[in-house]
Amino acid sequence: MKVLLLGGTSEARSLASLLSDAAVPLISSLAGAVKRPRLPAGETRIGGFGGIDGLASYLAHEGISHVVDATHPFAATISSNAVQACARAEVPLLRLERPGWSEHPEVDSWHWADHHVAAAETAARLGGPVLLTTGRQHLADFVPALHEHPVIARVVDEPEMPLPDRWSVLRSRGPYTVDGERTLLQDRGIRTLVTKDSGGRHTEPKLTAAAALGVAVVVVRRPATSSAQMVTTAEEACAWVLSATAPPAPSHPR
Ligand code: NAP
Repeated sequence: MKVLLLGGTSEARSLASLLSDAAVPLISSLAGAVKRPRLPAGETRIGGFGGIDGLASYLAHEGISHVVDATHPFAATISSNAVQACARAEVPLLRLERPGWSEHPEVDSWHWADHHVAAAETAARLGGPVLLTTGRQHLADFVPALHEHPVIARVVDEPEMPLPDRWSVLRSRGPYTVDGERTLLQDRGIRTLVTKDSGGRHTEPKLTAAAALGVAVVVVRRPATSSAQMVTTAEEACAWVLSATAPPAPSHPR
């Protein structure tokens, strides 16, 4: 028995700790998207598999018996690849996905967008300065609509693309506090905050701070969810692995 844990999230790190404590053979996998990733407990591999074929081959080659996809809610490609590769390799797959912010008390005041380009257009209409917290990968989607606006792009690693003159980069990594987020929004005079519906607590304080200051909030909706069986907490995922990998109870002769 050996579990492949597709990670890159705090939930994946929590699950890696729980499974390591339970002595479950485990390999965590990271994409290699950030330069200095927070590493989970136990064995880790880094880098893509090479699409569905590569992942299916990896499962067979490494003797993987179970897969937990605990990747970020917006990492749609790897989640889709996992569904197809696991089906092909006949390996059970569980999706661990944190709930979004649709139950947040401020949800009715937010401007929802179906994708990043639509979020950029909404932010341009609402006006800058704009705080962009959607990550480095999608910055290019915001440039056409926002290149004339003052924008602060908060990212973990330095963007690889050149940014418009009125944009600045703020390099930082959560978790954040409400007080810290309030100070940032106030000091930079932010009028519009753009975020993805990532869910979770680590990046939620900006939403509370924005509400308190009357800052407009634009939220990018999640992509379609995985078709795999789903749980929302690391504890539930750990229970699934332990029950799926438990040896059969011995049968007692009468
Ligand atoms: P993506 O678009 O779904 O995946 C792009 C490619 O990256 C995949 O096709 C796969 O390459 C590789 N990949 C992704 N996750 C991997 C993993 N855990 N292990 C090995 N390869 C992986 O994903 P993304 O949005 O670029 O996110 C990349 C990683 O960052 C994910 O693991 C995710 O959990 C984490 N992350 C993403 C976000 C976000 O907002 N998207 C935020 C925080 C953390 P191959 O096809 O070559 O296998």
